[in-house]
Amino acid sequence: ASLTQPIQATLFPGDGIGPEIAESVKQVLSAAAVPIEWEEHFVGDTVDPRTQSFLTWESLESVRRNRVGLKGPMATPVGKGHRSLNLTLRKELGLYSNVRPCYSLPGYKTRYDDVNLVTIRENTEGEYSGLEHQVVRGVVESIKIITRQASLRVAEYAFHYAKTNGRGRVSAIHKANIMRKTDGLFLTCCREVAEKYPEITYEEVIIDNCCMMLVKNPALFDVLVMPNLYGDIISDLCAGLVGGLGLTPSCNIGEGGICLAEAVHGSAPDIAGKNLANPTALLLSSVMMLRHLNLNDQAEQIHSAIVKTIADGKYRTGDLGGSSTTTEFTKAIVDNL
Ligand code: NAD
Repeated sequence: ASLTQPIQATLFPGDGIGPEIAESVKQVLSAAAVPIEWEEHFVGDTVDPRTQSFLTWESLESVRRNRVGLKGPMATPVGKGHRSLNLTLRKELGLYSNVRPCYSLPGYKTRYDDVNLVTIRENTEGEYSGLEHQVVRGVVESIKIITRQASLRVAEYAFHYAKTNGRGRVSAIHKANIMRKTDGLFLTCCREVAEKYPEITYEEVIIDNCCMMLVKNPALFDVLVMPNLYGDIISDLCAGLVGGLGLTPSCNIGEGGICLAEAVHGSAPDIAGKNLANPTALLLSSVMMLRHLNLNDQAEQIHSAIVKTIADGKYRTGDLGGSSTTTEFTKAIVDNL
């Protein structure tokens, strides 16, 4: 890309290992001459009354303005009177779908060598609507909400993603044989969208069968789209297929095309501040962000350098069985660029 103006992107280094792995991302992207200027925002230590959370209004405005950002892990602060940080981001930025690619990293041996799938999770409703109450003593009720609007929106995104990423198949994951109304509506919406994409094969797979197929032969799947709770579970299952938390990136898509990329893992308080964290997940998340920005050459270059570093095996962090520090591993990636 021959961009003269740098692109502004919001960066939340986050808590725990967040600042260490964010530093690694800044170094690698700068070494690859990516034309990005970071606007850094930190989680505050007081509640901002405008967001009812430790995230300031200004930091949310930064993402709304830039429409693109990268987020490190955020520890959930204890105490009452404020909203969870991740919930604040999801609600305020309308982050309606979570995209998690899971692919085998060449050179890092796991049970399967041929995983290459993407889970797309509806992120705003389903069982996560937070509508729970006690009916009478000993009986509680949870309300699962599925709307046509949210289902169409995530299905549209899934097919659009498949088309623009050269993928041939979308599988809708459901339990409509039991949840006839809710999952039934979700499927109806997926079918409607599928008709607009005749070049993409559409199929429906029941969630229990999907779990068995994923564990037996994950290569059967391409793009999977599903309601919130199933997505929560299946996306972690898929992360486990390819090597776990230190490696898996994700990206949240929000209203008006906002893209907020983030690692799947948490703040890892047990290793925070010790220069031991694996920055791969956040680095690969930044690669997703670059692809979203159509900075495909730099994305590819950084991706290859990460893969090569891990495959060489000389520099690996502790979670991958190595003994390198975050800084040594980062330097190896920069050398491989
Ligand atoms: P965690 O992901 O932080 O840690 C689980 C285990 O994985 C730990 O042993 C940790 O050392 C290891 N690990 C995680 N990421 C690693 C990395 N990049 N390199 C090497 N090892 C890594 O999960 P947790 O301990 O359950 O949660 C800690 C905090 O993070 C909590 O406050 C939780 O609320 C928060 N959290 C935030 C997010 C998010 O911001 N999206 C997600 C999950 C958890």
